[in-house]
Amino acid sequence: MEKGNYTLTLIKPYAVQHGFVGPILARINGAGFRISAMKYLQLSLEQSQAFYQVHRGKPFYERLCKFMASGPIVAAILEKPGAVDDYRRLIGATDPKQADEGTLRKLFGRSIESNAVHGSDSDDNAERESNFFFSLLERF
Ligand code: ATP
Ligand code: MG
Repeated sequence: MEKGNYTLTLIKPYAVQHGFVGPILARINGAGFRISAMKYLQLSLEQSQAFYQVHRGKPFYERLCKFMASGPIVAAILEKPGAVDDYRRLIGATDPKQADEGTLRKLFGRSIESNAVHGSDSDDNAERESNFFFSLLERF
């Protein structure tokens, strides 16, 4: 898979618990992304801290890591030319209250912390985050 053509998403515990996996995946497909890898799992606190290590030291880091380890999540690699930017547009602003109408975080988020989904913020991070969750044998 060519760099620049994919991004990593996580459907966060709040959205999974509230039955939003199906509606979110339908919108992802509807926006033209191909799901090239996917799994349903629960992170340990240590794994959550490792995934969010770029935010270590920020005031919300500990709560964010605990929240992301609090229940099952869906991880997926989404493929499309310009995937990182296109997906950031589909998910909307970090805070659901600021997010545009129709975005995933506006539709399915509760708060800035429980904001429904994660999306990689650069091609380098898409690569790092995809490798965190998936081996080459799990990418199609
Ligand atoms: P993500 O990385 O999850 O796609 P993002 O890139 O929009 O979100 P980041 O700045 O990378 O936002 O923050 C990572 C996550 O940390 C956010 O999705 C959110 O859940 C949480 N977060 C960010 N800022 C705050 C804050 N001020 N208070 C509480 N939680 C926050
Ligand atoms: Mg981010």
